[in-house]
Amino acid sequence: MGSTIDVVVVGAGVAGMVAAVEAARAGARVELISSTELGGGSSERAQGGIAAALDDDDAPELHASDTLRAGRGLCRASAVDVLVREGPAWIEKLAAMGVPFGSEAGLEGGHTRRRIHHVDGTRTGHAVVAALARLIAADPRIDVRTGETVRSLLVADGRCVGALSERRTTVARATILATGGYAALFARTTNPVGSRGDGLMLAHDAGAALADLELVQFHPTVLASGALLLSEALRGEGALLLDAPCGGERFIDELAPRDEVARAIFSRGQAWLDLRPIDRGRFTDLIAALERMGHRPDREPIPVAPAAHYTMGGIVADVWGRTGVAGLFAVGECAATGVHGANRLASNSLLECAVFGGRAARAAVQEPRPKSGARQASSQESVGPTPQLRRALWEDAGVVRDPERLAALERDSSGLARQIATSALARAESRGSHYRRDLPTEDPSLAGHFVFRTNGGPVLEAWA
Ligand SMILES: Cc1cc2nc3c(=O)[nH]c(=O)nc-3n(C[C@H](O)[C@H](O)[C@H](O)COP(=O)(O)OP(=O)(O)OC[C@H]3O[C@@H](n4cnc5c(N)ncnc54)[C@H](O)[C@@H]3O)c2cc1C
Repeated sequence: MGSTIDVVVVGAGVAGMVAAVEAARAGARVELISSTELGGGSSERAQGGIAAALDDDDAPELHASDTLRAGRGLCRASAVDVLVREGPAWIEKLAAMGVPFGSEAGLEGGHTRRRIHHVDGTRTGHAVVAALARLIAADPRIDVRTGETVRSLLVADGRCVGALSERRTTVARATILATGGYAALFARTTNPVGSRGDGLMLAHDAGAALADLELVQFHPTVLASGALLLSEALRGEGALLLDAPCGGERFIDELAPRDEVARAIFSRGQAWLDLRPIDRGRFTDLIAALERMGHRPDREPIPVAPAAHYTMGGIVADVWGRTGVAGLFAVGECAATGVHGANRLASNSLLECAVFGGRAARAAVQEPRPKSGARQASSQESVGPTPQLRRALWEDAGVVRDPERLAALERDSSGLARQIATSALARAESRGSHYRRDLPTEDPSLAGHFVFRTNGGPVLEAWA
């Protein structure tokens, strides 16, 4: 089966849904293809909220300086500038779309102001997805194809002209990849299984560059016995990290940067998050989930440990989502715009999805009509990572990295896993989320991005 439309969007998280809505509003006929239901990636799970400088005591410049500080010298300043300046308008736009943000903004680690806009404590992702889904359902210009996995991109004369799933070929003037990150390649993760980097492989096969693959953020406070995230917003409201379940002591500033908190907990094996000091009524869903699992947050601290959570690396894209391949765009977590540098600031990623998803849509509708004669770039296997590979990535390229283990991972794996190992070896320093036990400090000569182009890599590049 085949069709010709204006814009094909691959992935139906917040980035892909925003791109679809905005492209349709600009008059385009859009096909939105996703392996899961709408929102079925990480977006639906997002708890804490969306960062934006809206209050009187705040300003985009302050949001930018917090973002740059967290990014440890690797943020692309132009992308940060776009993010923080366009952020406030997106909160208002999402509210107008029906997202019921609470009246009081929250605080999270690394932010110097209360600027986390959220819904009912931990339901932000769900609420944003629901609002976008209503708009998509009401727009006849958007065809939704869920339960379909894109296996290959179509290319003609160096341009991307569409995508191929197991069910259909879609020819389009522009293709927007919004396939999410690759944190589910790691055994301990907060992400759904689909976060395995499909979009990165599709784009690379079509000729796009990948960058920052070693930069994986580990969330410090994930239920020790599972994948349930205990949002940073809890610590923002006063939850304490303790070194023992009974009579434990605090051992770190709970709102220190995520990488520092994650390593402090990792070095102890686990820690206990005490939710007794906070107003638990603000986090009803989370508290109910903990109680269903047999925990008693009103009586005892909850055991937590780090897990792979967000991937800064991805498909190299500019502030309009453009990749190096004409007609191919990348937005949301699958993109590497450099906006997060070496460590994403909490709640900047849903904002990234909205800001850059919207911009890519506006640029995509300007692309020329595709010519005929498309061929398929090489196709991706449908199999996901094996449990052994996921364990190897967690153990060899996890919170604390050793060169010997990275070298073994580089030798014994292929595809994205090998590129992660190679980049982590090349980054012979510690910076942001990337921590090398043998090289625990930053090396100023490595303040750039490791990039894989089709002819190999990684090559260190400086981005303006
Ligand atoms: C537990 C959790 C809590 C979080 N909390 C917050 C928060 O409070 N604030 C914040 O800013 N960020 C948060 N994040 C991060 C944020 O949710 C993600 O970065 C963001 O949602 C990514 O959105 P996305 O649209 O790029 O990708 P996703 O939402 O991951 O969507 C990817 C989509 O691509 C589809 N897909 C993938 N491969 C293919 C393929 N080959 N063919 C077709 N479809 C494909 C998937 O089915 C899915 O629909 C959290 C993440 C997690 C996991």
